[in-house]
Amino acid sequence: MKRNIAILSGDGIGPEVMAEALKVLARIEAKYQLEFDCREALVGGAAWQKHQEHLPAETLSVCRNSDAILFGSVGGPVSEQGSKKWAGVEVNSLLGLRKAFGLYANLRPARLYPALASASPLRADTAEKGFDILVVRELTGGIYFGKPKGRAGKDDEEYAYDTMVYARHEIRRIAHIAFKAAQLRKKKVTSIDKANVLTTMVFWREVVEEVAREYPGVTYEPMYVDNAAQQLILRPSQFDVMLCGNMFGDILSDEAAAITGSLGMLPSASLTDGTFGMYEPGGGSAPDIAGKGLANPIAQIMSAAMMLKYSFGMTEAYDDIARAVEKVLNDGYRTADIKQPGCSIVGTKEMGTRIAETI
Ligand code: NAD
Repeated sequence: MKRNIAILSGDGIGPEVMAEALKVLARIEAKYQLEFDCREALVGGAAWQKHQEHLPAETLSVCRNSDAILFGSVGGPVSEQGSKKWAGVEVNSLLGLRKAFGLYANLRPARLYPALASASPLRADTAEKGFDILVVRELTGGIYFGKPKGRAGKDDEEYAYDTMVYARHEIRRIAHIAFKAAQLRKKKVTSIDKANVLTTMVFWREVVEEVAREYPGVTYEPMYVDNAAQQLILRPSQFDVMLCGNMFGDILSDEAAAITGSLGMLPSASLTDGTFGMYEPGGGSAPDIAGKGLANPIAQIMSAAMMLKYSFGMTEAYDDIARAVEKVLNDGYRTADIKQPGCSIVGTKEMGTRIAETI
């Protein structure tokens, strides 16, 4: 079996951490006797150097001819952010790709490995239990995009407004993504809403309940967003998949990320219908540490693992990689961003090699 993967490493630490993800993919290729045809293409500042564009047609064409996109990060040093090379680089590259491929579902796993419990801002007895949450966020609808929105009136009567709107088909498709993801995990979906106040959210709850009936093997529970914000801090281990509209998902996915303790650990996926998807680490190009071999490659490696699971249906290979990451952490190896007393500090390459060799 052959899979085509577009490799868009981008800028800063992107190419460094991507090299480690490719090492891990090579191990999976050998273990499962399949072939990954990895086609590199330029994006962000790296693409600007050659094409004076952040998302050149050549790169889009490589992506269109691929089964998935593995993305690194884009962006440049703060001191040079005014330059043409960097102006609008994130919007042009990331939103350009989301738009080109209709990526409406954002999956952000937030996992606290027990070995990293002390890096979490949670209370120690809560953090020690660890957690493994997948936030599924609707990415292209809801109050961020609803019309009308605007400002009117004058002086004390001046006002501003946004519209929260969701169509049945938008709720159904994101709910299906959440329930399908739960089938590959601990089989529980908590749907986040505000059905006690907002009409849109009453509708959201009705439609999610309809979809839930199509997945009898998955436990479904609705939860008000204010309660969910508390429960994430008090008892995060109760969650498996959290299904959210655009705004609630924006807020809760950041809260879930914050309680894991490190940006260098967080992968993400942006999906559309079918199996195509784009996979990228939660952090940016980290210009402060770029080129120094210090970056944590785990977010990029786990993004590649998510690609195997969600685009290629390779759940076992995902588990192999997740277990390898956990073993290397349990063995006491840390990159500088997650250093803890008594642990061995390793660089980007050594962390990648150790994970690949553990598979
Ligand atoms: P950032 O995520 O790049 O860095 C924030 C902090 O986290 C830095 O101290 C950095 O060293 C650290 N960090 C991030 N990833 C890490 C990793 N894998 N290992 C160890 N430490 C890591 O965010 P920023 O500094 O606000 O932005 C830097 C550039 O990245 C900007 O140009 C910004 O626009 C861009 N950016 C790009 C993306 C993306 O490509 N998806 C996302 C966010 C920011």
